[in-house]
Amino acid sequence: TKTESEHAQIPQKKEPKLLDIPSLYEKEHEKPSIHLVVSGHVDSGKSTMIGRLLYEVGMVDERSMQKLKQSAANAGKGSFSYAWLLDSTDEERARGVTMDVADTTFESSKHIYQIGDAPGHKDFISGMIAGAYLSDYAILVVDASPNNFERGFFSNGQTREHAYLLRALSVKGIAVCVNKLDTVDWSYERFIAIKENILDFLVSKVGFKETMVHIVPVSGLSGENLIKRDEPKLLSWYNGPTLMNILDDFVPPTKPVKASLRITVNDTYRSAKGVCVQGRVESGNVQNNQVLFNVSTNSDAYVKSIIRNGHPHDWSVAGDNITMQLTDIDANEIRPGDILTTTSQPVKKTKSFIAEIQTFDLLRPILSGATLVLHRGRLSAPVVIKLQSVNGKKVRHITSRKTAIVKFTFLDGSYPICTVDDCKTLGKIILRREGDTVAAGVIRKV
Ligand code: GDP
Repeated sequence: TKTESEHAQIPQKKEPKLLDIPSLYEKEHEKPSIHLVVSGHVDSGKSTMIGRLLYEVGMVDERSMQKLKQSAANAGKGSFSYAWLLDSTDEERARGVTMDVADTTFESSKHIYQIGDAPGHKDFISGMIAGAYLSDYAILVVDASPNNFERGFFSNGQTREHAYLLRALSVKGIAVCVNKLDTVDWSYERFIAIKENILDFLVSKVGFKETMVHIVPVSGLSGENLIKRDEPKLLSWYNGPTLMNILDDFVPPTKPVKASLRITVNDTYRSAKGVCVQGRVESGNVQNNQVLFNVSTNSDAYVKSIIRNGHPHDWSVAGDNITMQLTDIDANEIRPGDILTTTSQPVKKTKSFIAEIQTFDLLRPILSGATLVLHRGRLSAPVVIKLQSVNGKKVRHITSRKTAIVKFTFLDGSYPICTVDDCKTLGKIILRREGDTVAAGVIRKV
């Protein structure tokens, strides 16, 4: 039983009668959506491919495309114009590297696809980390041009690290694009050699089931085999699916519309009527006039309005990126990284928790007592780890590719934390050490 003071900790605003959002959502019959993460070595052609895909599905009008081509040519980077559709900041354009997760959406007749364009550059892997936790499926781009497959895949290439990450974050399938096949004259032998390497690696080493891996020959630059194909050299030996066929065969996840409400706060700003919050509904549903609770500052607020897809709506559900106007709360009572919930089903703010992790290829073991950096979505914070067991046995260190149960303790305070059973996306974590991704896993107990 709770004491009087514990009860008093949760402020209680009076809530009006709420609508039954799951049944309203059911009636909307919207097209199912799939979150994709696009991964692969730097310069493998990720941005160009996705840009071209957007163009092919008609997301870009001819005039904007011309403008982009012109400004790319002026900057002396003519071949980058498709990538420029994604690389939106001036800094990224100047450097020719994608730095953060670009939020991109496109549709086929079957699905809506939401993409985080993963950066391949070593410094920018945290951008991929910020996007990867959302992903249901992945596109992995490999560069088939002479020597470049080998460079991205062996030695210090990121293709391997990305693959382990995708597995640890439990993506349900991968479309592997063997890209730039135009540079090897659409060589069947080159395609098959790369296909065998990739398949062996993803299945035997990383642990994906063979049925989860789909390998497709493409050129992101010319658009060949993304949605259609007419290159005679490719047609002479290939009659399999296009990239879009593969994506359309992916089974969309069911949205946790009825689960406990969890909204991650990405940004906040003051407005005339209250506080504006930009965030993502990770699970559950939210509606106007509802009372939201923020465990980080122990405060609550009313939802005044909800904007999704640029328009006001009375409610919103899991998977939506929204902007809300909140009233009866102070701007300093809500910050990026906070999690908003209902008052009846809050998350716990905690200094430590238990997670199950899988380690990647490690240069040296991770010792019990080590300090690592924990990433969950956009949160990153230093943690000390205590090994509880590795593959079921008690030990003092973990080596490469092991499964371990680990206790984590934050070094700099408490954070709102939920288990993977409570919220699928917020329950996923990634661990880094000195700039390398060393492990990933799921939160089991808070
Ligand atoms: P990212 O770093 O993976 O996003 O790679 P980019 O999309 O920026 O592409 C890197 C370079 O490869 C650019 O110069 C592109 O023009 C080039 N490129 C991308 N796709 C292809 C392709 O299918 N064929 C050829 N020949 N070049 C490509």
